[in-house]
Amino acid sequence: MHQCRSCSEPATLLCHLSRPGSTAEDYYCYIHAVEAGLIEIPIEELRPLAIQAGYSVNAVTFVIEAINASECLTNARDVCFAVLKAARKQFGASSSEAFRFWNMNDITDIGRIVVALVNTEYAPKVKHVDQKDFGRPLTLLEILELV
Ligand SMILES: [Zn+2]
Repeated sequence: MHQCRSCSEPATLLCHLSRPGSTAEDYYCYIHAVEAGLIEIPIEELRPLAIQAGYSVNAVTFVIEAINASECLTNARDVCFAVLKAARKQFGASSSEAFRFWNMNDITDIGRIVVALVNTEYAPKVKHVDQKDFGRPLTLLEILELV
């Protein structure tokens, strides 16, 4: 897992800087990528949601991106799958390291973030997801389908 150049959070953006004769790579989390003017995310609007849920703004933003990148989300299982898929794509084999850093240890953590996002404009696709599903442990078969 690469870490942000300004804080130690998992890096979600890699920026290639090339000048004649030299190239450099810089890693950014969402917050510092916004500060550097590389991406646009309403960090200040997401901060109270993240605080309410008890997670880093970066973790909440990651979940939002995972949800918004998915076609169809009808239940908690779909949301968990979307988040795992996004993690594999972003962090590869270090996905568990990134989740540990964000203090996301099981599906109830994803559930808490989704609860904070429901009824906001940031994740319209989770409107119909039943929050209670996240309180239920996944069965072995469901986990096998997810990984
Ligand atoms: Zn950072």
